[in-house]
Amino acid sequence: MKITLLGTGDAPGTPTIGCSCPSCTDGKLSGSKSSRTRFSILVQTEQGNVLIDTSPDMRAQLLRENVSHVDGVIWTHGHYDHYGGFAEFYRVQRDVSVYGVKETVDYITNIYFFISADKHYVNLHEPFSLIGLEFSLFEVKHFPEKLPVGVVISDGKHKIVISGDCEIDIPKESIDYMQNPDLFIVDAIVPEHMAVNKHMNSTQAFEMAEQIHAKKTVFTHLSHFYGAHDVECEKYPLGYDGMSFEFD
Ligand SMILES: [Zn+2]
Ligand SMILES: [Zn+2]
Ligand SMILES: [Zn+2]
Repeated sequence: MKITLLGTGDAPGTPTIGCSCPSCTDGKLSGSKSSRTRFSILVQTEQGNVLIDTSPDMRAQLLRENVSHVDGVIWTHGHYDHYGGFAEFYRVQRDVSVYGVKETVDYITNIYFFISADKHYVNLHEPFSLIGLEFSLFEVKHFPEKLPVGVVISDGKHKIVISGDCEIDIPKESIDYMQNPDLFIVDAIVPEHMAVNKHMNSTQAFEMAEQIHAKKTVFTHLSHFYGAHDVECEKYPLGYDGMSFEFD
């Protein structure tokens, strides 16, 4: 199993249009890890490719990672930075299999009615199989979404947990469900000195990682309020676009 962070930015991405802060300035340099496209994660086995969310930057991400076919899409919630790229399937791939809670799947497929989708409604904590892996969803909190979810991935030997867009005070059952991941990919939109709503700052992300006893933690959904990547990664476990993790 290989997990690749396709996009590690927040909704506006870095560089943010019209901004010349240190992070955005660094992000304009070629090859800079401060350059962050919008959120998506690629999960791969020899059997195929699954996307967690369809970033508005999906086309560039799939070309960059040389992905020619997507075997399933799992949506965490109905915010534009997590589904906007679904339209990129237009005339490229038909009958895309999509998974998520009913509210989210219906919301997105109604907007993109012109893309044919094979819809799969998923209940919380009910595992489903794709590309030889087991996936399941748990409830998080992300105002004003009614039922935003995080994702657990298992290959039978390793457990990966993705928080999705997430506030700190999620249900106790979810904290129980997330326990002991080998890798925790977590929303940490801003550094600790900044207040935050709808997401977590770095302190809260570390706190959640500790609550679930994560063996390894990587931050994603990062805003330009962090400094340049190469400076900040001394202090925080920052993900970057194209970062990957392999589990045998
Ligand atoms: Zn900026
Ligand atoms: Zn969101
Ligand atoms: Zn988001």
